[in-house]
Amino acid sequence: MFDILIIGAGVVGANIARELSKYKLNIGIIEKEPDVCMGSSKANSAIVHGGYAEEHTKLKGRICFKGRKKFEQLNKELNFGYLKTGSLVLSESEDDLDNLKNLEENGIKNGLNDIKIIDSNEIKKMETNINENFKYALFCEGAGICSPFEFTIALIENAIDNGVKLFLNEEVKKIENNNDYFEVITTNKSFRSKIIINCAGLGAEKIANMVNDFSFNLKFRSGQYFVFDKSEGGKINSVLFQMPTKLGKGILVSKTVYGNLIIGPDALDENTANLNTDSQRLVEIYKKSLLVTDKININKIIRTFSGVRAVSNNDDFIIEESAIKNFINVAGIQSPGLTSSPAIAEYIVDILKNKGFTLEENQSFNPYRKGYGNYNHNKSNKDNLICICEEKTEEEIMECFNRPIPINTIDAIKRRVRAGMGMCQGRRCKPKIKEILENKNINLDYRTDIEIKDVDRVDRFKLIKDLKENI
Ligand SMILES: Cc1cc2nc3c(=O)[nH]c(=O)nc-3n(C[C@H](O)[C@H](O)[C@H](O)COP(=O)(O)OP(=O)(O)OC[C@H]3O[C@@H](n4cnc5c(N)ncnc54)[C@H](O)[C@@H]3O)c2cc1C
Repeated sequence: MFDILIIGAGVVGANIARELSKYKLNIGIIEKEPDVCMGSSKANSAIVHGGYAEEHTKLKGRICFKGRKKFEQLNKELNFGYLKTGSLVLSESEDDLDNLKNLEENGIKNGLNDIKIIDSNEIKKMETNINENFKYALFCEGAGICSPFEFTIALIENAIDNGVKLFLNEEVKKIENNNDYFEVITTNKSFRSKIIINCAGLGAEKIANMVNDFSFNLKFRSGQYFVFDKSEGGKINSVLFQMPTKLGKGILVSKTVYGNLIIGPDALDENTANLNTDSQRLVEIYKKSLLVTDKININKIIRTFSGVRAVSNNDDFIIEESAIKNFINVAGIQSPGLTSSPAIAEYIVDILKNKGFTLEENQSFNPYRKGYGNYNHNKSNKDNLICICEEKTEEEIMECFNRPIPINTIDAIKRRVRAGMGMCQGRRCKPKIKEILENKNINLDYRTDIEIKDVDRVDRFKLIKDLKENI
């Protein structure tokens, strides 16, 4: 019998698992996919948001800054890749100054002490490659960027080292409520647990419905992105936002922790979790990014992707014990959920304490986890590279098999050690990796890799052609 079962191994479930592993508890995480971090946590802007954009009346407004403040320490412990870059909300017109002031005021209400409005001279000093017409910007010094998948992987690796059990490829199909405990029936197994924490992202409504909790609805809102080669990442220093709208924070331009550049997302309500990308939407996104900078070389597009937000009916995070006793929902965690996730985990600890659940400290909790060395950009030995774009050797690639999360796909290797993330997108290294694995009698199911599963991403050459014709 588990004390706590967490459904969903996204960044929220991962933070909760690791936070709860600080206590003497029997904890399990159930995930339907062959790896952790396969939902919204994998495909997003990767921004550690300042915390000024969401209204103070909303939980997501009040909790974001608390989460953001934890990233520096978490990165010291878990080595997942985080950079404090600062962010700018740029405005071209005097008319927007009031909106910037409102954002600043909201940020102060949310507890921020590192935001201010700056003028065009200061903007130009900070960003030399953006358009010259910006008059003002809201500067948030403590905003930053991180690797969302390395973050989630790191949290779960560390949680497992501290006793948490992870079950991949187990989709929750049914939950029986036996009052003293829940019986959770999955693809191949069944589990018993005293408490369930529903962190199933886009699937959270379905999971809640399984225990007759119909208290919220979720809708899906997709957002598409471009990823550019590392030659473009250095052109921008901070995260660049345009004025936010009701649908989101608008099109942003940002470097990534790995040195690439991303542009996106747009926002479109969907009936399904649509991960396809299409030229028409991407052309519109690119046009909007031109309002910020025209210095990005479109021939350096590496790939495109789409992420899907889980938007709740009250447009806020739902983090509470449901009317069903011992069933806790953590649902509707759209942006800034990645930033807020460490604080969401602490919020869950408070919920458990307040309901009188015994939490006895785990004296042997080890907060540390070794990274995969993806931030060593000055490699001296470049011999025997398997992935030439990202400069990865066989030894570095095989390191993921020494870790506690089972590796079931080539994509899982890519997300950990970046082999296949470069300009050629694995065209050169994937066959070599397959050969290495086969020689070691490691058989992965290549059919589960996202690129060939059921996701249709626009062809890079077609996209570049469409961009050239339309801008
Ligand atoms: C386009 C976009 C941009 C964003 N940008 C940012 C940003 O820059 N900064 C920021 O702070 N936040 C951002 N966010 C929000 C952030 O990505 C999410 O808040 C966060 O990833 C949510 O994590 P999660 O763990 O709740 O959900 P998920 O990552 O979706 O995890 C849920 C998990 O549950 C699993 N699951 C579902 N159903 C079942 C089932 N029946 N059985 C077992 N497992 C199941 C799924 O497979 C999945 O792995 C963005 C989101 C999107 C979509």
